[in-house]
Amino acid sequence: MKACMIVEKGKIEIVDIPYCGDPDEHEVVVKIKAGGICGSDMHIYHGTNAFAVYPNIMGHELAGEIHAIGKGVEGFRKGEKVAINNVLSCGECYACRQGRPNVCKNLKVLGVHTPGGFQEYLRISKHNVYPVPDNLSWAEAALVEPYSIASESMNRGRIADGDTVLICGAGPIGLMLLQAAKLHDVKVAVLDVVASRLEIARKLGADLVLNGKSDDVKQAIMEFTDNEGVSLSFEATGNLRVLEACISHYASQAGRVVVLGFSTEKMQIAPIEIMKRELDVLGTRLNNNRFPEAIDWLATGKIDPKHMISAVYPVEKVVEAFAFVDENPERTLKVVLEF
Ligand SMILES: [Zn+2]
Ligand SMILES: [Zn+2]
Repeated sequence: MKACMIVEKGKIEIVDIPYCGDPDEHEVVVKIKAGGICGSDMHIYHGTNAFAVYPNIMGHELAGEIHAIGKGVEGFRKGEKVAINNVLSCGECYACRQGRPNVCKNLKVLGVHTPGGFQEYLRISKHNVYPVPDNLSWAEAALVEPYSIASESMNRGRIADGDTVLICGAGPIGLMLLQAAKLHDVKVAVLDVVASRLEIARKLGADLVLNGKSDDVKQAIMEFTDNEGVSLSFEATGNLRVLEACISHYASQAGRVVVLGFSTEKMQIAPIEIMKRELDVLGTRLNNNRFPEAIDWLATGKIDPKHMISAVYPVEKVVEAFAFVDENPERTLKVVLEF
């Protein structure tokens, strides 16, 4: 069967590999139909993802159809449309015992630590497979995983009606956060440095867009919130200065700051900023059982994923697809490979 192999940094090849094999008792085999290219894939491609191993098969934003079903698996039928959860956990460590497998001590992320889904067939635990309705296209179904990240982030930030929300970063994840936040009765400001992305944020319902290059962000946020600061902010740029400002300048008393960006650099925060306002600074990673909600958003039309898809490439053109993302960073949201 065909697979897109990242041989070393900067080098992707379509190779022929053996079939994944029949499913074990609690597994299914999924025939992959679509896979989104993620920012983290671009980092693996460029050799800048600290978690990456080579050679590997990337792909963790996946949709496909059930091809084979293990003996002990019930509730699936052959040909059924599914999305694949990329979180592989041990089930035994402290985090797993707390019901938080997405931060398992022995966490493996499909397509990062283990061979992912940019291949024809994938054998995987039944627990990682979620049916999606047929009204979603393959490319849309592949977006369930990134939307599950938005769902997890909202859950971590305990979003509630009446919140004033700041989303830093208007890339695909930032825009999905915006769509998810707007399901609540909240005011949302979006911060980025790319005007075209802020334009999209505006179209998706942002109440205020802020260009970090040209606007006085702190003052605008204070005006936006009657001088209170935002009650909930999401840092999805990875820029340390932005996270520092979220904590030191933008957050309200008793505010929550949710951290999605994963810089390895150290930042400068006076702890009193966190202490005196009783801020909650919360990490969020992948998703913890958020596939059902993400699927519901897309299946019922609460969220329209169409705006997120910039281009769809047949898998044979995987090299062109990665080049397209590289060459059009400002106007690319999601690029999806179809099999
Ligand atoms: Zn991703
Ligand atoms: Zn674990």
